[in-house]
Amino acid sequence: MSEGGQIKEGLLEKLPKPIKKIFDWGRSFSIWPIHYVTGCCSPEYMQLFGPRYDLERWGVLPMASTRQSDAIIFVGNVTRKMMLRAIRLYEQMPEPRFVIVVGACASSKGPFPESYSLVRVKDYMKVDMYIAGCPPKPEAQAYGILKLREKILQGEYHESK
Ligand code: SF4
Repeated sequence: MSEGGQIKEGLLEKLPKPIKKIFDWGRSFSIWPIHYVTGCCSPEYMQLFGPRYDLERWGVLPMASTRQSDAIIFVGNVTRKMMLRAIRLYEQMPEPRFVIVVGACASSKGPFPESYSLVRVKDYMKVDMYIAGCPPKPEAQAYGILKLREKILQGEYHESK
């Protein structure tokens, strides 16, 4: 481990395959996104953790600290100022870490293509999953998170540094 608990670059790739498979299996059942929303897609997102959708039964559990988080979900429009803070949060998270983009604004500026302040997440970090819509319904968001889970289970991700 390097300073700050970050796994050294390439360490996961060096694990024997059966061990990595076990790690990935555990990881796929414990996606812990940081508590963080940025725009008006968020009321749909918040429903995921209520009694109807209850994503916690699949191990998706929002965390208040970057120390335990392994995912950042951009829920709604992201401004240039907010992206600076998001990068800071992202860099504090241990590897491997996943990025999910929810909604048209964070994917492509959506209905505000001429905006001077909105940014696209993909211009700042590697995105693992996009969830389309304005706003995407809770079902779509749950589906996107479960698709990410499948990718993790298949080992289809990379350390970001
Ligand atoms: S995609 Fe639509 S609902 Fe989501 S933040 Fe943009 S305008 Fe709001």
